[in-house]
This record gives sequence, C-alpha cells and structure tokens, in this order.
Amino acid sequence: MKVIVASFQYEACGMSSTFPGTGDFECAEGRDVYRKLDVEDVFRENGIETVPVFYANALPGGICPLAIYESFAEKILSGVREHADADGILLVCHGSSEIEKIGSGELDLVSKIRSVVGDRPLISVAFDLHANIHPRLIPMVDIVCGYKTAPHTDQRETHRAAAKILADALCGGHRPVVRMVKVPMLPAGDTMLTAEEPLRSLIAKTRAAEQNGIFRVNLFFSHMWVDAPNTCASVTVTAADARLADAAATDFANRFWQARKQFRFRVETGSVSECVRAALARTGGRVFLTDSGDNTTAGAEGDRTDILQELLRVGAGRKKICVSGITSPEIVEGTRGLRAGEEIEVPLPAGAVKGKIVRRGKILGWAKDVIGESVTVDVGGIDVIFTEKRSAFIAKENFELAGEDLETYEIVAVKQGYLFSELAPYCDKQYFVMSDGSSCVDIRRLGLKRIPRPLWPLDDFEWQAKI
Ligand SMILES: [Zn+2]
Repeated sequence: MKVIVASFQYEACGMSSTFPGTGDFECAEGRDVYRKLDVEDVFRENGIETVPVFYANALPGGICPLAIYESFAEKILSGVREHADADGILLVCHGSSEIEKIGSGELDLVSKIRSVVGDRPLISVAFDLHANIHPRLIPMVDIVCGYKTAPHTDQRETHRAAAKILADALCGGHRPVVRMVKVPMLPAGDTMLTAEEPLRSLIAKTRAAEQNGIFRVNLFFSHMWVDAPNTCASVTVTAADARLADAAATDFANRFWQARKQFRFRVETGSVSECVRAALARTGGRVFLTDSGDNTTAGAEGDRTDILQELLRVGAGRKKICVSGITSPEIVEGTRGLRAGEEIEVPLPAGAVKGKIVRRGKILGWAKDVIGESVTVDVGGIDVIFTEKRSAFIAKENFELAGEDLETYEIVAVKQGYLFSELAPYCDKQYFVMSDGSSCVDIRRLGLKRIPRPLWPLDDFEWQAKI
C-alpha cells in the first residue's frame, strides 16, 4: 500500500494588508518533508510505503494571492498525478487559508486531489485548531484530525494521529466516516485557552470519547479575521460508522455551544497606555506586553509602534525593555554595513527619533528555518528589534537568534495575543494589550459582512445542534 504525504499551511487574515509571496513560505520537497512532518514511521510500522511530495508553511498573513496558492497546489497535484494509484493521502493544512478569488484553499485543494484520484483513496486531513472548515470539504475526506491545544503544543501528535487513523483504516480495510456540525459562534480566539475551564474539561471529554469506533473528536475554535460564509466554530467526529459520528458530533456541538459564555480573557487586559503604565509600575519579575491588534501570529503586519511610542512618551528608560519583532525592511536594509554604536534615525508616526545600533541578528521563521535579518536598535534606552521580514518572537530561540537574551529584560513586548507556551516559563505577568490593528480582537469592530448569521456573540439566540 502507498500513501502520499503533502502539506500546504496558511492562515489568512482578511484585514491584513500584507500579502504573502513565494519567498514567505518555508518549503520542503521529497524526503525533506519529513524534517517538518514526523509521520513516516507511523506508516512504515504498518508496512505502508509513503511518497513525501511537498510541504509549504508560512507565518499567517493577508489573503493569499491566487498565483502563489496555485503554484504550491500544483506541486502537490503533480505528485498526486504521478502517484494516482495511491491508497491514501495525508494532507496537513491550516483550515483557514482564504485564497484570492476562490475562498477556502483547503476546499479547492481537496476537490482537485479528488478530481485526480477519484473516490477510492482515503484522504486524511490534519487541521489547526483555528480552522474555519468549509462544509463542502467534509464529504470529500475520510478522516479529520485537529490540534487540541491553544496555545498549540500538539502539532506533531495531531499529524501522527491523522497518519495512524489512516494507516489503521488501510490495514483494516475499512472506510471511516466524518461528520461536522458548524456551531454558530465566533469567539475571540484569545479567550480560548485549553488549559483553562471550560475548555480543559471539554477537550478531556473529546479524548475520553475516542474509543469503541470513535476515532477522533475535535472542537475547532475558528479564526475571526476571515470574512467568509464558513467562518465560525465547528465540531468534527471521525468514526467507524455514520450513526456513531452523528451522535457524537451533535453531543459535542451542544456542549461547545453551551460553554460559550464562559470564554473570557484569563489575563489582565487594557489599552496601550493602561498596560504600559501597569508594566512600568510593577516591581520584580518579567512582564510581557502582548500587542494583540498587531499580532503577526494572527496575520497582522507587525509594523505598528503603538507600544514603543507609549513607552517613549512616558520615558521608560529606567527599566530594561525589549520591544520585539517590528517589521521594517527599510531599517534593516538602511543599517546594513553600519557598526554597533552608530546613530540612525528611526521613523515613527509622531516624528523621527534618534536610535543607536546595538547589534545585528537573524530571524527564525514560522517553520523554524532562518528567514532573514534583524537589527536591534537602542531607542531612548529601549532595545527595539526590527526585522527584515514579518516575524513572530514566540520562543526564547527567536530572541537568541536575534542576538538578545530574553532573560535580561524586565519588560518584553511581543506581537501576539495569548502568549505562546514556549514563552510562558519566562513570564511572571502578562498584560494583554487591546491595541488597534489588523488582528483587533473586538469582533464588532471588524465589519464582517459575509459571515453566517445569526452568530454569537454578535447575536443572542437559542440554538441546538442537528445533523
Ligand atoms: Zn491556530
């Protein structure tokens, strides 16, 4: 037996003005795919041959240009055409990849794969927890697995689960059934942490349910920054038969819906000035300020300087502060060849200020490859890391590669909403900054027009799941 392994992962933020180019994707072909997707042994142990075709993954950004998506889809499709006799396909996607002119990239990709291979091969898809799954995709796939953690820590486990259920189905000669219930809610993703209630118990129940013919139960939290008819939460169940899948999907959709009013921010929130003031007033420990409106991990541009400007305005120089990952190819390019200590002009909306070069470094990409350069500039006593490309400082190693030791700072600003789990050990206090930008967390300010209605929290209504 033979399985094709492929991946196209992209999360689109419809409010963002930054559109990905080919170079923004970290790609792998052939056996290099297994550097990124650790699934080969799952198949090998079951005597299944694999064909690793192509992998592409990028930091979330604006709507994906059609030509960029098509170039990657074609790489996957040419592998599928070459191995159209495959018995199965493992496809790792995000689930919220909105593509220019065509909408859901996952729907388009799975449709095209089916048009090549027909109905016979099993298709197993792995999705991010923030997938806005298109209902028309479900009848075309046989297995759906999603992450169960936010912040995400179970990517590898999920990819391997999608591989294992596929391998078991192929070896056992059975065809699983997938059912999905779209749950009419679009909660702010940053209020939905799986280590906190009510989600901790709900996710534990999904794990407990995975037995006796139920292979996988997933709650998908959705991604609020895509204005599309499929933008809302959902529940999927992959099971041995339709009766089991229907019953579990309905049950979990009702539980998920009933929990909605308990989703709330678990950390202190405030305006830019409130959070900056609170961070400066705090003594002892390390404070993180998460710039949620300009959250690059949700697709925002990462070029806003609201927090930096507020720190400069109140004269924050007495604390050791790092403002990380401001996108500025101009500053990185303009300082090339300059030495540490040399003075430069840093343009800010309120007017240029003087800065001094501290050091140059590198940027770690979303899929852990080195993707460009950074420069740290001392601006009014604050270390500001400017990056050549959009970036996400989600772990200590991101700072290390930029030449900075995270542990030497008392206040660290990052372009995130919820704090990524790799940073949690270094954080004594987080302030969730309700800043402006493309990833604003207030759904009412997004002006969404194509989303399904009624939709909680925009509408207050009763709802019951049915299939
Ligand atoms: Zn996600």
